[in-house]
Amino acid sequence: MTSNHDDQTGTPASILQTTAEREQALLAPWAMFSHQSLGRQAVETEHPYRGPFQRDRDRILHSSAYRRLSGKMQVFTGDMGDYHRTRLTHTHEVASIARTIGRTLRLNEDLIEALALFHDIGHPPYGHAGEDALDECLADEGGFSHNQYALTIAEELECRHVDTPGLNLSREVLESQAFRVDKEEFLHTPLLEAQVVDAADSITYDAHDTDDAVKLGLVSLEELQSLTLIHRCCERIDDRGRPADEDNLRRAIVHELIDCQVSNLLDTTSEQLAQANWQSAQQARQSDFQLQLTGSLAEEKSELESFLHQHVYRHPTLLATREIAHQQLHRLFVYFVTHPQQLPPRFSQRIEHKGLPRAVGDYLAGMTDRYLEISYLEQFPDDKC
Ligand code: MG
Repeated sequence: MTSNHDDQTGTPASILQTTAEREQALLAPWAMFSHQSLGRQAVETEHPYRGPFQRDRDRILHSSAYRRLSGKMQVFTGDMGDYHRTRLTHTHEVASIARTIGRTLRLNEDLIEALALFHDIGHPPYGHAGEDALDECLADEGGFSHNQYALTIAEELECRHVDTPGLNLSREVLESQAFRVDKEEFLHTPLLEAQVVDAADSITYDAHDTDDAVKLGLVSLEELQSLTLIHRCCERIDDRGRPADEDNLRRAIVHELIDCQVSNLLDTTSEQLAQANWQSAQQARQSDFQLQLTGSLAEEKSELESFLHQHVYRHPTLLATREIAHQQLHRLFVYFVTHPQQLPPRFSQRIEHKGLPRAVGDYLAGMTDRYLEISYLEQFPDDKC
């Protein structure tokens, strides 16, 4: 039986492990270790029991921009039902799948979780339709991208302390996000932890968009089974007995879709990592390694994505939503640019150093879908778009 007392001194031995001890025991040499972090812009003392990437994760989780993801659409709007994913539940699913992959590859799960919770935080209302609308509004100002806006949130808009703007996240989190904005600026590939989050994002949205589209009746299971990847999933389901009802078959297909992609990624990547045998995260970054699906599965995934683009993302219901997002954002943008006194104080204060159009864009991009609609109807009460 083990004792909680140090045998030599008789004093109670600490049962607590430091972040460094835990990472030393669990992580592979190619992982991003906390003690190798380049730190934060504003220097902070170390936390007694939370590592730097745990603190990043917690700051993101407790930010108001993160909470507002619950009111932002992923693909389908709130008035289409309450089964499908929001931007927030999508984010949770990405984090869950990314952590599974990261743990198996012995990468830094704390960093992965922080990156996953952060990866979509910059989405404006109405998803990519909203992004396109704001990009048009800000065309003379360099446009709008949700990836860039995530950095604006993290570095300027969120507020933890009165004397430090932003969340003061670790450089590894900010740099992984900056890579999404402009890959050309970087000499090295992203950290493996960042690559895991990108792969998990794609696995996640393909699976849940398939699930949501069937549940909403936009496509049928029969149509989906003409696709090689879904057909292969159904064969695996048949091996253990195909459910008789459609709901359970849909759920089984989603499970298989995730499982076969994660398994393929892990099989391929673990072999590549063992062969490369990098001795540090930096060494891994200096290679041109790209974490990705391989073999026929990669092609089959592309076929599924083309199907989703054609039959789901361009479905008339979603195209109508696109029009609404376009109209509301464009008209509100013009309204606030011509009535800057109506901006909330913290955005009107940004006019001086960011310019009026960008200050308005930053305000609109932070809105939830519902708040955008409320704001629109406040200014244009007679307009039922
Ligand atoms: Mg995403």
